[in-house]
Amino acid sequence: MSVVASLRPTVAAFGTIDGELAVGGVPVSRLAERVGGTPFFAYDRALITERVALLRRTLPTAVDLSYAVKANPMPAVVQHLAGLVDSLDVASAGELRTALDTPLPATRVSFAGPGKTDAEITQAVAAGVTIEMESATEAARVVRAGERLGLRPRVAVRVNPDFQVKGSGMRMGGGPQQFGVDAEQVPALVADLAAADVDLLGYHVFAGSQNLNADIIAEAQRKTVDLVLALAEHTPAPVRYLNLGGGFGIPYFDKDRPLDLPAVGENLADLVATRIGPHLPEARVVIELGRYLVGEAGVYVTRVVDRKVSRGRTYLVVDGGMHHQLAASGNFGQVIRRNYPVAVGNHLAETAAETVTVVGCLCTPLDLLGDGVELPPADVGDLVVVFQAGAYGLTASPTAFLGHPAPVEVLV
Ligand SMILES: *Cc1c(COP(=O)(O)O)cnc(C)c1O
Repeated sequence: MSVVASLRPTVAAFGTIDGELAVGGVPVSRLAERVGGTPFFAYDRALITERVALLRRTLPTAVDLSYAVKANPMPAVVQHLAGLVDSLDVASAGELRTALDTPLPATRVSFAGPGKTDAEITQAVAAGVTIEMESATEAARVVRAGERLGLRPRVAVRVNPDFQVKGSGMRMGGGPQQFGVDAEQVPALVADLAAADVDLLGYHVFAGSQNLNADIIAEAQRKTVDLVLALAEHTPAPVRYLNLGGGFGIPYFDKDRPLDLPAVGENLADLVATRIGPHLPEARVVIELGRYLVGEAGVYVTRVVDRKVSRGRTYLVVDGGMHHQLAASGNFGQVIRRNYPVAVGNHLAETAAETVTVVGCLCTPLDLLGDGVELPPADVGDLVVVFQAGAYGLTASPTAFLGHPAPVEVLV
């Protein structure tokens, strides 16, 4: 096979047919015809299903799984996951509507994120979802919305922990943060809330994202449980909701090793048995995951529109680019640009024979999809596939930049 060693398990998971990558059992060239053209995003339904099954097998049954919709808010993907996970986590009114369209009850939807507007808070209270409050002032606005609507808001406090999680691709807790209420301010807030007409269910701590180190995730979960046990002492009612966050990472680059999920599962089982069960017996324990559920199940498929050699360097120019898949260009939060895995999807069986630079069709040097990658010879019309495109792809990209049409997304 022509793909780099680290990509082989991913390609094997999708499967190949006659030397082509298959998504949902359909070879990519045929899928391109079915979709009506390139570029497009394709998500493999069976891979998403398998990923949830793996988590169910490996994490303790007492732990609920939530899907963080912002990773991939395509309605078909959210509908599919709604049938597999226990709850959905949204971060905007738009995502809230998508979640409420699924068969999951509103009580299984949580709404996190800073900067919720009064309109969003009103919609969330009216819907009856759990609002994960990010500040004391937001809490006051939730209370007022409840009073105005004559409804008792279901709420949890998002806590900015007093520890940091090392090794996260994105740190979202510890130190000063726009996320959550600083842990030391939580007792005063819940004392205030005790007098208000809200249903305080518990706590949410999400300290970081894209972590591939099971030891660090386990340590963060232990510290989170310790923190919530301490906060529970100051909480007037029993804690019924304990959202431990997630942060499970996926391998994007050559040297990345997949997360040791069994190690995370063992630690969680221990926490449930020795800490949460005995001290917070009423708590629904939740792990919320975005990219881990969908990231590896998606590909971005582009077609080569030009091939040129410039002063010794061979360029493949494709019809997609950073306007659809910003992260692969290295411009979505990465400090050092590294290549996302790419392959010639319709020539998977051929040996990598040349080093090429894959660029998108935007008129900017930032639009780089693969810098010096080893690929089999590819020419105009061949399909260049970018992997790990199931999360933070299309909706995390500047689609209006250069004014090209938006790509189609399919769940196969
Ligand atoms: C973005 C986000 C997630 C998902 O993060 P992933 O890295 O995709 O798993 C989970 N929880 C909250 C609160 C988030 O904002």
